[in-house]
Amino acid sequence: MQKKDPPILVTRPSLPPVEEYDQLVREIFSSRFLTNGGAQHQKLERALKEKLGTPFLRLFTNGHLALECAIQALNLEPGEIITTPFTFISTTHAIVRCGFTPVFCDVEPDFFTIDPTKIERLITPRTRAILPVHVYGNPCDMDAIDEIAKRHNLPVLYDAAHAFGVTIKGRTVSEFGTASMFSFHATKCYHTIEGGAIATKDAAFAELLNGYKNFGYHADEEIREVGGNAKMNEFQAAMGLLNLKYFDSEIEKRGKVAARYRENLSGVAGLAFRPVREGATQNFAYLPVSFDPQVFGANRDQVSDKLKEYGIFARKYFYPLTSESACYAGRFDPNKTPVALAASRNVLTLPMFADLALSDVDDICELVASCKK
Ligand SMILES: *Cc1c(COP(=O)(O)O)cnc(C)c1O
Repeated sequence: MQKKDPPILVTRPSLPPVEEYDQLVREIFSSRFLTNGGAQHQKLERALKEKLGTPFLRLFTNGHLALECAIQALNLEPGEIITTPFTFISTTHAIVRCGFTPVFCDVEPDFFTIDPTKIERLITPRTRAILPVHVYGNPCDMDAIDEIAKRHNLPVLYDAAHAFGVTIKGRTVSEFGTASMFSFHATKCYHTIEGGAIATKDAAFAELLNGYKNFGYHADEEIREVGGNAKMNEFQAAMGLLNLKYFDSEIEKRGKVAARYRENLSGVAGLAFRPVREGATQNFAYLPVSFDPQVFGANRDQVSDKLKEYGIFARKYFYPLTSESACYAGRFDPNKTPVALAASRNVLTLPMFADLALSDVDDICELVASCKK
């Protein structure tokens, strides 16, 4: 096999036809309204409310600041937030940057989402909230989490960065918990270049988000919160409107890529695809596979290195655990979340994007399978 040139990266953003974006850019130019909730922003907010089945939705310049604003808008006393270490570093950073202490709960062995059977033993008088993550777009066990939260009177903020468009038993993921954060970064399956949103059923909470994302402003001369700036601009919103129009075809194409991976690799002993939670739909945001080095004969890192030799760049999502990142050295013990720790050593996310050629998928699979001993 030839080395891939250009290389194949783990993801590649889809883009709408440039003429359609050009048309919206012309509208923005003629309006001279570039940000602060212009026409594109208003249209996108309405469209996404409908798509996500949520009564209130606020747009942000990125998912991370959306998460920080949401934590701030919960108006919590200082204390602890129970979360997962098997996530993108943003989740943990948001908690810490908002002045809270993350308390790491282990994950379910099948789904790598927070394990609800292990949450309650971590609840203390200082616990203020629960912040689970829908890992790879696979929803958490939300019924169990929301039940625990209700019993202990704790808000639940879902990091739904991966879960755009996902439903479970006919309900969109944002119908659960106090609020959900979606990321619309270019690497996500739905994007606005950079961007994010918070969906919530709580009108007062949504009102607070307006302040936190815009310097505390609620009216011209009315500054109620010590808010920062996390507004989405018109060019981002225009990209979002067009990508929303093509979202169904995006998912269909990704589904075909995922099916090809499964077809090629499902018989390989020691290599496993992630199961899907019962009743959940998939958005094929990522293509994670895990290796059992005892059975497969090679470990995750060896597979990753092999692919690199051929110009194929998979990613070790999520490695390291957020709790063992250098900036948190000495503060947390990753051995207290052994399932998450093992996952971080054994999972590789393979290239996944809508226009990944099936012949490239075949090549990637051939290389992966060739690592088996
Ligand atoms: C992408 C991501 C974020 C951050 O979103 P940005 O839009 O990149 O700021 C947060 N959490 C998770 C799990 C993510 O994957």
